[in-house]
Amino acid sequence: MSIADYESVIGLEVHVELKTKTKIFCGCSTKFGAEPNTQCCPVCMGMPGTLPVLNKEVVRLAVKAGLALNCIIEKNSKHDRKNYFYPDLPKAYQISQYDKPLCSKGFINIETENGTKPIGITRIHIEEDAGKLIHNENGTLIDCNRCGVPLIEIVSEPDLRTAEETVAYVQKLKNILECAEISDCKMNEGSLRCDINLSVRKKGETEFGTRTEMKNLNSFKFIKKAIEFEFARQVEAVEKGEKILRETRRFDEVCGKTFSMRSKEDAADYRFFREPDLPRIELSDSFINEIKTEIPELPDEKKARFMKDFGLNGYDAEMLISNRVIADFYEKAVNKTEFPKILANLMISELPKIFTDEQIPKTEPINSEFYGEVADYLGKNEITSGTAKMLMQKIATDGIIPHIYIDENNLRQINDEETIKKLCLTEIENEPKSVADYKKGKTTALKALMGKVMRATSGKANPNLVQEILEELLAL
Ligand code: ADP
Ligand code: MG
Ligand code: ZN
Repeated sequence: MSIADYESVIGLEVHVELKTKTKIFCGCSTKFGAEPNTQCCPVCMGMPGTLPVLNKEVVRLAVKAGLALNCIIEKNSKHDRKNYFYPDLPKAYQISQYDKPLCSKGFINIETENGTKPIGITRIHIEEDAGKLIHNENGTLIDCNRCGVPLIEIVSEPDLRTAEETVAYVQKLKNILECAEISDCKMNEGSLRCDINLSVRKKGETEFGTRTEMKNLNSFKFIKKAIEFEFARQVEAVEKGEKILRETRRFDEVCGKTFSMRSKEDAADYRFFREPDLPRIELSDSFINEIKTEIPELPDEKKARFMKDFGLNGYDAEMLISNRVIADFYEKAVNKTEFPKILANLMISELPKIFTDEQIPKTEPINSEFYGEVADYLGKNEITSGTAKMLMQKIATDGIIPHIYIDENNLRQINDEETIKKLCLTEIENEPKSVADYKKGKTTALKALMGKVMRATSGKANPNLVQEILEELLAL
């Protein structure tokens, strides 16, 4: 059997830091990037005699996440102590939620090759983050600023089957959480990190295999690489007749492989018990209903609206809404053009290069409506698509104004047939070999001639016209 006969089964645990000003059980700041150990107090350092007080904003944001991810909200839940001894956890336990999470049984939709697929959300619970260990040449240092930063853990059903689906799932999740202002989701700052559970089985089998867990992936690139590597590793092991061990593995970003860290702890290892220092969480209907009214238009609704109002297909709409910055620009620009589809294509192809998932816009465009102007120029054949793409980027990075830039740099497309004919005749004369090749039936020779004409006009000739005219002339 080969790797093509297998499929992976993937379920994710995603940890997301909530957008609160203060920590979950004390008043310390949650701001990222402060000097180590400057945002701590006896409560988040776990000093004996201190008592936690639950930050209401944490519950509000977690409920908001539950609603945005189509979950059932548990009106009566509680906190539990998860006991483990590790240097990043001064209390030696983490306050989490065990058997009564705040939210359960939700789902989100992702786009796959075979259409829309719902991915189940098993549960969402609230918990506190641990500190951060910093390993350097002198040893290991600890920064406790992150101790007690509020987290939600979003656990998915094992519904994902490929690296692409997994990336789409995390992207969608990120998009929803950003949109509803639940988290800033900055993956490079650790605000959103994924544990990937993965097992393999032969295609067509219904039973799941034994899974391994890869901890703390925080970029789309590494999520994809880790899954591809681990899938191949497990298939190879199964093919050799080896048993997959239930273990926690580390993905090494440098060599792109996973390594065993430890065998998986059982729930019993954590000695969970109800957190005695906190009362139960009881939510009223009015509290939940009020949060419902605060949820803005979510990505799927936006997608449906883009399809309906601007005549886009599902793919284009999904591409636009998958990046919030670009979706916002599109909405501002689309009223300024008669060509919403052309605008969408330009934005989808050019802007993600500048406004990446991890990056805040480098230069805020002076006026995003200018994107619409570019779509108009292209739609009316006044500039080439190459020029249009270049202009899209320049609006974003240099804040240019298209009509001024086009005039100053003489970028208008050459649509005049006589001018193009003259240029074509010149190249036909200059390139007898290409002409001969073309006449012998080598169609690539035409491309070479087209390239010459385009170059002679710095890419400004209307490429369709160039092709037409060349074909005409060469047919004589
Ligand atoms: P644990 O505490 O053991 O990590 P969780 O319930 O927090 O358990 O998370 C388990 C995760 O593993 C879920 O995302 C679930 O979908 C996924 N999962 C469970 N069984 C399998 C399996 N056989 N293969 C892949 N993923 C699995
Ligand atoms: Mg886990
Ligand atoms: Zn504190």
